[in-house]
Amino acid sequence: MPRVTENVYYIPGQDGFMPDAHAYVLGNPSSQDLSIVDAGFVGKGNYKVESIQKEGIEVSTVKRIIMTHTHLDHIGCLAEIRKELPWVEVWAHRSEADLLEQGDERAVYGMNMFKTLCQLQFGLKPGAFKFKVDRKLDGGETLTLGGMAWEVVHIPGHSMGSIGLYHRPAKILIPGDVAYADHAIGRFDLYGANPSELKKSLIRLSELEVDALLPGHNQIVKGLPKDYLAKTVRQWESYLH
Ligand SMILES: [Zn+2]
Ligand SMILES: [Zn+2]
Repeated sequence: MPRVTENVYYIPGQDGFMPDAHAYVLGNPSSQDLSIVDAGFVGKGNYKVESIQKEGIEVSTVKRIIMTHTHLDHIGCLAEIRKELPWVEVWAHRSEADLLEQGDERAVYGMNMFKTLCQLQFGLKPGAFKFKVDRKLDGGETLTLGGMAWEVVHIPGHSMGSIGLYHRPAKILIPGDVAYADHAIGRFDLYGANPSELKKSLIRLSELEVDALLPGHNQIVKGLPKDYLAKTVRQWESYLH
């Protein structure tokens, strides 16, 4: 589990037949108040928990899992992690949290074809993603997580409840699936997606000073060029309306 900065660890997604989202562990271990950002795909829960243990981190210090959004490649192993760490809270944006609490899985699967395929392939039962969400986020909050301040930015478009987490002092941005390396952006054709909202969200992110971009998939980027996200907006804006 590489360390990105002093108090941010990176658990690379273990892609297989389906992509597995990266997870990040935030906070100073001595704070005993660690947070995991995103769980990952179905079957990857033990890998995520073992990655934390291998770092010598006591898992009892993990207090919550914060979802950047609730697509299956991010939430698929949430229940597996909670089986190992039953005390952890789940935090998510209100719009997707309400769906999870109602057992409405449209935002998890994104489309019916994918739902049928995954339920068959992975033996997922209807209702597998009904969760109580302990804290519903709106965007605009500043969370104190393990001695670090993280701002919540609501960045809908890839999904309705996508959030970014921004640590201003070290200019670290965790954008979920909204922006990636190589000027790639998240898809905008699934349930709850909206291309013009995605454009606004990318513009919003481009206004932040970002040194480290820690996305949900593919490479992480340190020393991000100053105009990187503005260039991403320019590259995609004609597709996003
Ligand atoms: Zn996604
Ligand atoms: Zn993803």
